[in-house]
Amino acid sequence: MSEGMTAKADFTAFEVEAIGESGGHCECCGNESRRVWGMVHQAGGPSVAAYWMHWTVGHLSEPGANLDVVLGKWGDGTDPSDRFGVALVHRQLEDGTPSLMVVDAADRFADIELAATSLARRDVMGTPLAEQLFSIVDTIYRQDRRFF
Ligand SMILES: [Zn+2]
Repeated sequence: MSEGMTAKADFTAFEVEAIGESGGHCECCGNESRRVWGMVHQAGGPSVAAYWMHWTVGHLSEPGANLDVVLGKWGDGTDPSDRFGVALVHRQLEDGTPSLMVVDAADRFADIELAATSLARRDVMGTPLAEQLFSIVDTIYRQDRRFF
């Protein structure tokens, strides 16, 4: 057996794949709104997440932008019961720094058929899942240039 066949892929790095985007107008003020989505893969490995970011110009501080992330198993032989949704809110604070918070997913995944379950904030915070989630989200922010 050659060295190459036993070498392990680097699972510490993630790659973002931008997939689609759409535009619209906010129902409350008519401002332009934007929705972008994509997938996160382990470098040289399987997919780990799908995500959607939705925001409206002028609403970045309040109510903020929605970041929906679906985590779990992907690919052949998997179905929505292998995955779950986590909802985050991105806010631009007055001093310009971004803040990101996990919120109860509630109805945020009603239109997203990729995940059978969605999690509440208490299901995520303080668990190993939170660590995985934030390293994935960090990758999305660093690699998806369509955000803000
Ligand atoms: Zn509005």
